[in-house]
Amino acid sequence: MVMTLGPTPAEPAPTVDIVTTVGGVGLRAYPVALPMRVRFRGITVRETLLLEGADGGWGEFCPFAEYDDDEAVPWLRCALESALGPAWPAPLRSTVPVNATVPAVDPEHAHRIVTASGAGTAKVKVAEAGQDRAADLARVEAVRDALGPGGRVRVDANGGWDVDGAVAAVRALDRAAGGLEYVEQPCRTVEELAAVRRRVDVAVAADESIRRASDPMRVVAAGAADVAVVKVAPLGGVAASLRIAEAIGLPCVVSSAVESSVGLAAGLALAGALPELPHACGLGTTSLLARDTVAASLVPEGGALPVPPAAPAPGVGNLAGNAMSPDRATWWLDRVRRVLLLVEDR
Ligand SMILES: [Mg+2]
Repeated sequence: MVMTLGPTPAEPAPTVDIVTTVGGVGLRAYPVALPMRVRFRGITVRETLLLEGADGGWGEFCPFAEYDDDEAVPWLRCALESALGPAWPAPLRSTVPVNATVPAVDPEHAHRIVTASGAGTAKVKVAEAGQDRAADLARVEAVRDALGPGGRVRVDANGGWDVDGAVAAVRALDRAAGGLEYVEQPCRTVEELAAVRRRVDVAVAADESIRRASDPMRVVAAGAADVAVVKVAPLGGVAASLRIAEAIGLPCVVSSAVESSVGLAAGLALAGALPELPHACGLGTTSLLARDTVAASLVPEGGALPVPPAAPAPGVGNLAGNAMSPDRATWWLDRVRRVLLLVEDR
């Protein structure tokens, strides 16, 4: 197995040539750092590595910094599928409805986000550390007001409650929202999700509980969820995710990992190819980024995004203007080289 690096880039040139171990195909890697508009998942800058295949295809490799190399393997498979092929499965629809995403902001801000989105579904962050129940209730009420009675309100606790806390909170939030579409990841573990699901009338969605390809079947076996939130990168790409979704047998909501528009395209391809798509997807997330990697950002219009045939090519200015610091770029390039070796090994 051979992997070589191309010439060391003269700073601050942000690109490095890599010969992948996967069939010896050439790749060019572009580390970029995108500032975020709102702190999300504890980060204010989204670091990511764009990969350009020899034939001009693009992919995005952006496992969160705390993920180890093993965990990053499917993320790289997804990026390589996007950049090098095989082509994504044929879509069954041309657009995908997406939810507005409401971070843990005050009610007025939440109202503005939802109104500006034009979306018919809003996902509201709740159970944020340092905030109380009253703030969650007020935010959810504001979101219902902005959506009107026909809209759908879902809440995402990111595992922030224990079982008793979740049961009480979900009941109160369901009343404040005038009915919730579902509650996403009320608690941390699969067993806790199952316990909450037995005690509340609101549907439960599993998100963080589905991070590896083997996780969905654990969720199903435990009776832990009514809805599966699936992300294309941690599941290893569009084709792999499609197979996993079929095996899950639950309604799936395709969600992003806050990729730039290059990586988001893979999620849209999955959402476009799922046989059934009863819920809006969590793919309208470029609004969380203050800058993007492409000139024509994948921004929802009227609450929907198009299903692209392939990942969009980044703009030259978008890459140069968002170059990572040299030390972080080195960290990402070292990481992708290590993970490429693991991809080849499996
Ligand atoms: Mg979530």
